[in-house]
Amino acid sequence: MDPSELAIHTFTTKPWSITECIENYARAGIGGISIWRETVAGTDLRAVRHHLDDSGLRKVSLVRGGFFTGSTAAARAAALETNRQAIQDCAALGLPMLVMVCGATPGMSPAENFAQIRDGLGALAPFAADLGIKLAVEPLHPMYAADRSAIPTMKAANDLCDAVNHPLVGVALDVFHVWWDLDLEEQTRRCASAGRLFAYHICDWKQSMDDFLLDRGLPGEGVIPLRAIDTLVRSCGFTGLAEVEIFSRKWWSENQHHHLDTIISNCRRVYAP
Ligand code: ZN
Repeated sequence: MDPSELAIHTFTTKPWSITECIENYARAGIGGISIWRETVAGTDLRAVRHHLDDSGLRKVSLVRGGFFTGSTAAARAAALETNRQAIQDCAALGLPMLVMVCGATPGMSPAENFAQIRDGLGALAPFAADLGIKLAVEPLHPMYAADRSAIPTMKAANDLCDAVNHPLVGVALDVFHVWWDLDLEEQTRRCASAGRLFAYHICDWKQSMDDFLLDRGLPGEGVIPLRAIDTLVRSCGFTGLAEVEIFSRKWWSENQHHHLDTIISNCRRVYAP
């Protein structure tokens, strides 16, 4: 895979400022960028947008909204307000899509969490549509089901999208979260045939992780059948960029130019035609 076919999530190179991300990705020939809210917190979004426009990078998504669940109505209303702000930031940056990590509240059942997510997403969709922003539900590996997301599979994401039934609500498929699922092919085809396969994130699953959040592997460092999933996603008609999203204390401690170069060389090797 050529770097022009990749987008990089700014959290992948967490030590870099948004300015460094834009300049260094563009210089390396990367195709696009997904911006984490943390990376642009406290910055002038209009200035960032101008920098992005001048960079030639494709603007892919803002990461992330969601966290709809809560044990009180006030908590859920506050979450909706945070999401409205994220959607406004997304529009201000000229990004077309907000990635949603849907949330889960410890002590609530999966069904209760799902219902609150459905209601929150349904309430948010018209607001996002007014600004032309797509909402991409990202299923998370079930190890995060207690407190990060009650949407653990592509099937659950598809069912959620069916329940909300809005043309700007779709799915972000992240190989880290869904590679293990025996229903992955069937549910990815279901998603794409409904016009809902909005985004595609790549990294790798290291067989021995020292942290379930912050020790993701670069493509080629782990066990995910990356080429097979890429073939599946492309055969479904997905034409977007493959977004490299890696949280790794190990790689953040390295020189970030070396980190980016290694991502590029690994992707060339792993996805070689
Ligand atoms: Zn992701």
